[in-house]
Formats: sequence, C-alpha cells, structure tokens
Amino acid sequence: MTGDVAVGVSGDGSGPIIVVGAGLAGLVAAGALVAAGTDVVVVDEGAEPGGRLATRRIGPATLDAGAQFFTVRSARFAAMVDGWRAGGIPVREWAHGFLRGGHVGDGPAAARPGTDGHARHAVDAGMSAIARRLASDLPRGARRPGTRVHAITPSGDGWRVEVEPGRPLDAAAVVCTPPVPRSLALLAAVAQRVPPAVRQLRYEPCIALLAALDAPPAVPAPGGVQFTRGPVSWLADNAAKGVSATPAVTVHASGGWSADHAADGDEEVVDGLLDLVRPWLGAARPVAASLERWRHSRPLESYPERAVRVPGVPPLVLAGDAFGGAKVEGAALSGLAAADVLLGT
Ligand SMILES: Cc1cc2nc3c(=O)[nH]c(=O)nc-3n(C[C@H](O)[C@H](O)[C@H](O)COP(=O)(O)OP(=O)(O)OC[C@H]3O[C@@H](n4cnc5c(N)ncnc54)[C@H](O)[C@@H]3O)c2cc1C
Repeated sequence: MTGDVAVGVSGDGSGPIIVVGAGLAGLVAAGALVAAGTDVVVVDEGAEPGGRLATRRIGPATLDAGAQFFTVRSARFAAMVDGWRAGGIPVREWAHGFLRGGHVGDGPAAARPGTDGHARHAVDAGMSAIARRLASDLPRGARRPGTRVHAITPSGDGWRVEVEPGRPLDAAAVVCTPPVPRSLALLAAVAQRVPPAVRQLRYEPCIALLAALDAPPAVPAPGGVQFTRGPVSWLADNAAKGVSATPAVTVHASGGWSADHAADGDEEVVDGLLDLVRPWLGAARPVAASLERWRHSRPLESYPERAVRVPGVPPLVLAGDAFGGAKVEGAALSGLAAADVLLGT
C-alpha cells in the first residue's frame, strides 16, 4: 500500500527529511526528528515496517525470522526500551543466556548451559511488534510503505529521491539506513564522497528456516541454542519463547552454509536444514516450512561512528547496524545518532 504524501519538488533544499528504510534505525531516527518538529517521510520497500525485525506467520504459528532477542548494554538504549514498555510494547526478559552447542548434529545431550547473567529480551507478539508500534507513532502521511528507492541524487541544496511506484521526491536531507552495500547502490552518484572505510563494510548472509511442527520439539529450556561451529548457528523454539501459540522452530544457517547454498532451490534448502536439525525435533514432524534469505544479515565489521554525515554533498547521513555497534541496540542508537547529526545536537 502506498500512501499519498505531499513533498516539495523545488530542488532548492526545501521539503522533508526523507528516511530510507523503516527498519529500527530508520524508525528511531524518524521518531526523534518528528519529536524535534521536523517534517519527515519514511520510505521502505516492504509492505510492513521492521526490516530485519521480522515476524512471520505459518498458519497458527508465529515465528521470529530475523532478530531473535536483544540485549541492553547502554543507558541510552535502556531508556528507549523503558519507553517502549511504557508505550505498550510487550518486551520481557526471555533468558539470561542460551544453550551452547558445538555442531548441530551433536544433538541436545552434548549442549551445555550458556547462562552469563545478562538478560536477553524478547517481545511477546514477535520482534516486528517494536517496528509496527514505532511506525504507528509517526504522523499520518509520514510513511511510504511498499515504495522502493532506486536512486538518490543531489538536486540543488537538497536531494532527489527516485522511487517506484510514484513520482520522484525532493528532500532537504536524507537519512539512508539500508545495509551499506544497498545504500551505496542508491547513492552511486556520490558514492566517492562516502568514506572508504564505510564503502568497504561487508555483511554475512543468513538463510533462515521457519518450520511449524505438529508437536513440541526437543529443544531444552529456555528454548534457544547457539552453535559454535558447523552449518547451523541458531535454533529457537518459538513456543517456549512465548511468541507462538503452536510449536514452531526458527533455524539460522551459518554464514558459510548460507553462502554455499545461496543458489539452491527452496525445497532443497528446506530439506537440507530440516535434516540437520532432526536431532532437536524429537518426535515432532514439520507440517509447513518457509525460508527467509537474508543477504545482509549482520555486518562483519563495524564503522566506529554511530552515524556518518557524508561530506561535500547536501545533508546526507548514513546509519544502521553497521555504525558504532551491531544488532538491535546498535541499530537503535545509530538511528538516534543520525537524528542528532541532522539536528545539530
Ligand atoms: C537472521 C538474523 C538474526 C539476527 N539476530 C539478532 C539477535 O538475535 N539479536 C540482535 O540484537 N540482532 C539480531 N540481528 C540483527 C538485527 O536484526 C539488526 O541489527 C537490526 O534489525 C538492523 O536494523 P537496521 O534498521 O539497521 O536495518 P534493517 O532492519 O535492514 O532496515 C533497513 C530497511 O531498509 C529497507 N530498504 C532497503 N533497501 C531499500 C530500498 N532500495 N528502498 C526502500 N527501502 C529499502 C529494508 O526494507 C529495511 O526495512 C539479526 C539479524 C538477522 C538477519
């Protein structure tokens, strides 16, 4: 669905701030800019907000497909999460660490508790509930879901943002939050202005298997396993986690396995991953399965600053989880930093 948004078309640096990406970084940036009285439009190719905060349904089952949980390590993020809770987002502690397995094929008997005392948070309705709530807090007309950006070029003192579907949008400033390789493709006209260390940032792929089961799996409490080597890096029981009303597992293939199988067909990948996790399913059988292929699941390196103002061009800030710290917390703090840069605070 694409909403109608009034956007200046003068090319003179007037118009709203356009935030590319309604993932966590983009939504947090947009919220902070709106709170400061700025006119903002958030453009995302997805029909739903969230990006890698992604929750999927398979029949009655609910499964987190991207981020599985988050930790809170800074006071600034702790205050933000308190605000989420106060605003009705059902964030709660899931565990203080997960089982640690070596190779997935070793099965539950070989896994050891990995508790380290640090709280891992989950969201009752699934992680995408955070994004849905932040998006719904934006003013009416400030969101353009289902709208793909395909080029961002300087135009006078501002920017021209080419979108599909729709007419080009003019912006006084742009906050660009997709994974860096995707942002650079959009910014091809000015990519040479982007600091070389940003241009070199790389990401790991991840193929996620989402499987609804006919019975609970054999994943011991608390319902999450981190594997240190081999083809699978993570396995979660979404019912034990409190997200799904019916048995359902999320399986994350490792970066290496995901890269090796990127060109394989869905059926082959589903069967391959189900075979690998068989020791963890017990008597449960899959009743339906789907895949999520994350080309840029997590940055392999991090740029030291939380947001980068690209020099020598109209106001342009790069943000997202590759800046200043990875994961959910890193993305949220990067969004705040992007707003700070534009507001001069
Ligand atoms: C498999 C997986 C497991 C993870 N597990 C965890 C975990 O357990 N804990 C944790 O803390 N973190 C985890 N993460 C990382 C976490 O999800 C991310 O760090 C965070 O969600 C990134 O947010 P972001 O806003 O920076 O980027 P994104 O969420 O990627 O947002 C970017 C947005 O830009 C949009 N976009 C891209 N290109 C365009 C375009 N051309 N036009 C319009 N829109 C565009 C996308 O649709 C997307 O919505 C995981 C990620 C994955 C994929």
